[in-house]
Amino acid sequence: MALRVQKYGGTSVANIERINCVADRVQKAFDEKDQVVVVLSAMSGVTDSLIALAKQAAERPDRRELDVLLATGEQTTAALLAIILKSRGYKAKSFLGFQAGIKTDKTSGKARILDINCKNIQTSLDEGYICVVAGFQGADEDGAITTLGRGGSDTSAVAIASSLKADVCEIFTDVDGVYTTDPRICSSARKIKKISYEEMLEMAILGAKVLQIRSVEFAKKYNVPVHVRSSFNEEEGTMVVNESADMESVIVSGITCDMNEARITLKRVPDQPGISAKIFSPLAKAEISVDMIIQNTRTGGDTDLTFTVTKDDFDRALEITEKVAKEVGAEEVITAEEIAKVSVIGLGMKSHSGVAATMFEALASENINIRMISTSEIRISCVILAKYAELAVRTLHSAFGLDQIK
Ligand code: ADP
Ligand code: ASP
Ligand code: MG
Repeated sequence: MALRVQKYGGTSVANIERINCVADRVQKAFDEKDQVVVVLSAMSGVTDSLIALAKQAAERPDRRELDVLLATGEQTTAALLAIILKSRGYKAKSFLGFQAGIKTDKTSGKARILDINCKNIQTSLDEGYICVVAGFQGADEDGAITTLGRGGSDTSAVAIASSLKADVCEIFTDVDGVYTTDPRICSSARKIKKISYEEMLEMAILGAKVLQIRSVEFAKKYNVPVHVRSSFNEEEGTMVVNESADMESVIVSGITCDMNEARITLKRVPDQPGISAKIFSPLAKAEISVDMIIQNTRTGGDTDLTFTVTKDDFDRALEITEKVAKEVGAEEVITAEEIAKVSVIGLGMKSHSGVAATMFEALASENINIRMISTSEIRISCVILAKYAELAVRTLHSAFGLDQIK
């Protein structure tokens, strides 16, 4: 008997027909004598509609109450699946985040899980129940409902799997697994059979939304075996596991594209000690994370400073930067929202040279201008104009031979 945590995303629970298909799969695992905990997302599009509704109610909806509203999407699907399973004669029980023992901090909209205690679920499993948990939500120390950020049901599932010491956390989605790049952008993308936590984490950070970043951090920290697979077929998907020796032989495992960043440039900032601190400290205080930073020194004793933030943080970041620009005597602030960050990722980069050159040559061959570059041990990222994003992904995918891997 195995303990399986199965998470189903928005398209997998999009309507009653799809929830019935989920019930079939859950039922099959249970009939095979496995213990099953199901974690559900809201029906696809529902979280977006709830956000839109809140924005009709107020221009800047109160963040605490917005979380109460958003959590209803997952409450609905969890209840519906439990209703279906019970109508089929199975013992099933739904749990909201707080009932599942998920305690978070107080950051409404992107709360972090501080602690998880699945004793209610464990007791119900031992009594022979199928447990159905509303993903994406928890509660803070005062009992207020919180949500875990977009895509947060992945993190609910991995956290529950780690707390219950489940044999596997299955992430059921609308693609067959983790691909070498987004299969919706590149038709020659290939399914990866096995990927390390580290590479998966980079892919998630750099824009492959198939798994939420925090779910991969959690899986890596607590060694949770994650199986990403399709809810539409029975194919084996991708196993996300610890790094093994054979993995370094693959130089580039995947290509990602992130369209969710925007660029801010301060022109002609005085080139003096302390200026960067003056610019970036107020951003940090406002909890805005800055991703890439480039500083170009000119000969006349001033510099241009460019950085990127997520589009969600852009308006607030711009407001703060314009204020600071006046204080430090910068000439002007210019912005670019239509940018994309394309990245190549692979453990093999640790031990192979020439990846950057191949990347730059491939982009040059399509006349794509690189605006910013950043690197880590296992990835290289370039910022380019958004209109070239898909072309860049396809070009890099074939330049690194990913069209051919089996
Ligand atoms: P769910 O609603 O099931 O959580 P998501 O939409 O959050 O699903 O994630 C699945 C989507 O991630 C896929 O439809 C695909 O377009 C996208 N995606 C981006 N990069 C990749 C990748 N490298 N491999 C697989 N899917 C990817
Ligand atoms: N429903 C939430 C979202 O759309 C959480 C999730 O699906 O994982 O982001
Ligand atoms: Mg998702």
